[in-house]
Amino acid sequence: MQGEFKRETSVSKIVDASPEEEQEIIEVFKNNLYNPDEKKFSKSGELIRDYEREKTDKEIEMMKYIFEKVSEFVRRYGGEPVNLNTEYVHILDNNKIGNDLFEKIGKVGQSFYNPFRQYIGLMDFDNLSNMQNVVHESMHANSFFSVEICQDGNLNFRRGGWETSVKQNYKEIYFWSLNEAITSELEKRFVKEFLMIKPELNDDFEKRKIKAKEILGGNPSEDELEDMLYSYPESKPGLHSMFRDIRDKNPSKFKPGKDGEEEVFNMFARVYFTGNILEVARIFEKTYGKGSFRDFGKRNKQ
Ligand SMILES: [Zn+2]
Repeated sequence: MQGEFKRETSVSKIVDASPEEEQEIIEVFKNNLYNPDEKKFSKSGELIRDYEREKTDKEIEMMKYIFEKVSEFVRRYGGEPVNLNTEYVHILDNNKIGNDLFEKIGKVGQSFYNPFRQYIGLMDFDNLSNMQNVVHESMHANSFFSVEICQDGNLNFRRGGWETSVKQNYKEIYFWSLNEAITSELEKRFVKEFLMIKPELNDDFEKRKIKAKEILGGNPSEDELEDMLYSYPESKPGLHSMFRDIRDKNPSKFKPGKDGEEEVFNMFARVYFTGNILEVARIFEKTYGKGSFRDFGKRNKQ
């Protein structure tokens, strides 16, 4: 274990396991961490090392900086950071992977995080996109993560940030879209504070802004434009208006204006990193009535 890091792997908690089972499971995760023979694509089972490219020195340097700052950032929301290093990240070689990502991992996207195999995979884009995707997936990797042993003895995911599997039914994942929206809001705050100050990313930022304006067309507001620069922009209008609504309906708990909106966000971010859902559930039921929190989870399911 390294000095200030108490959390060696992404696992925060193992539900309903004996101390022996717990130890066994922790060993499996520790064995997967940084072991290239265990870094497999989730669908095809092929080894990721056969499809990755080498990272440049500059990328390694930037990732080290990101991981250092992510630890600091996660602690602000009460989280326990994982000691990530650059070996955790694999950049796929576009020439080797072709258009086969779906066949290999079962989904498409710019990047992905595999909590059971303990790695982050990136499709290769410009430097800003790659580093921003490292930030996004690092948030997932640092979010509260609990697993449980199923009836068939297999290990399954119970909670990952906001995502919650309904016990013994792993097909339904509650709060899926909320989880991505919160991840994106965390990514945004991190990028604004720690990446926008990096001169080597300036050009990519300018290009991104021009592209965002083109996509939006017309005269977008500052907030709309900003949301376009980060992942899952389509989830943002609903998220922001929910934060404002909770703030306005609980004036004794939250400040007015932008500060209060941030306070509501902070509450959602704390759940993401600590797994402690009680505070939000209480406020939700108080604001929208009994059963509203569960309904909200269902509406956000995958
Ligand atoms: Zn994500």
